[in-house]
Amino acid sequence: MRDEGKTIYSISRINTMNTCNFEYYNTYIKKNRGISNCYGEVGSEMHDYIENVYRENITDTSDFNQKLHNKLLELEIMDLDFPSEVIKNSFVKDMDHFTKNFNKLDGSFTLEKMFVSQIGEYYLLGYIDAIQQLDEKINIIDWKTSSKFTGSKLEHAGRQLVIYKLGLESTSDIQINEIKWAMLKYINVCWKLKNGNIKKKMVNRGKLIKEMKNTFEKEMLNSGMDEIEVGMILMLAESNNSFKDLPKIISDKYWLQDCFVEYEATAEVIKEVEDYVVNTIEEIESKDIHNENEWKPLDFDKEGTFYCNTLCSHRKTCKFITQYNKENPFKKSF
Ligand code: SF4
Repeated sequence: MRDEGKTIYSISRINTMNTCNFEYYNTYIKKNRGISNCYGEVGSEMHDYIENVYRENITDTSDFNQKLHNKLLELEIMDLDFPSEVIKNSFVKDMDHFTKNFNKLDGSFTLEKMFVSQIGEYYLLGYIDAIQQLDEKINIIDWKTSSKFTGSKLEHAGRQLVIYKLGLESTSDIQINEIKWAMLKYINVCWKLKNGNIKKKMVNRGKLIKEMKNTFEKEMLNSGMDEIEVGMILMLAESNNSFKDLPKIISDKYWLQDCFVEYEATAEVIKEVEDYVVNTIEEIESKDIHNENEWKPLDFDKEGTFYCNTLCSHRKTCKFITQYNKENPFKKSF
């Protein structure tokens, strides 16, 4: 298709254009490679490892945690910093818990499945992290090391899953049952309510005991346990961030479940995604690739500079953010 002169887009290419025209220009027109960022590096490491587990290249996952820490050390050596120590500590605690408590999902898996599909008159290429076939149902799973999505971020992230579903359904006779993210930083604490319903609380893995402390404390005290003993048990469990350190009265009632967030591809959502793709590509193709001035930077006053200073692959060379940081040395970047 490329030989025929067709441009093949991808959802990340389209998202880049919507984030910053100048980033798009640098990446896709000038073909500047740029540099990676700490979240991208850890995310790739996690993806590669998980993929190897499902491909059965790795059968013993006891070194998963060590791989995470090797990667973090590598980032320090490469000078790829997190935005702050507090953010880093919280991220590392979440991923630490994930890599120590990794569970392989049931079902058969197809990984990194490439597809090319058509939206309007345009072509989109994508790679689906995982297609899970379980009990005659087919689900699309995308592993995410990012924070949970709320508001417009949910719609933004959901577009990728919708494209995957459309891509697969339009190029095969497969019907997708669920599209969802495996949110690696989070875990669900589950318990049965008096009415028989199951309640799930989504918590950061690194704060698993801290966030459930009051509930667990009440439960233990109500069972007649001594206050001092309860305090000591919780202190130990919190410092180890370990559910296994809690007594049977808790583990009999509460259980942990990996966290998946499903996204609903309604007809309205699909229409929005198709319009988003077509409108963005039309905007890209209306611009002059020989005139750099047509490719505007992100609006720092409106959007802040977190993305520019932490995530953008051109953050070290972009003239706009360099100038802005020079003129606003005390502005927080997030
Ligand atoms: S640093 Fe900011 S303004 Fe510059 S290319 Fe990246 S996203 Fe755009």
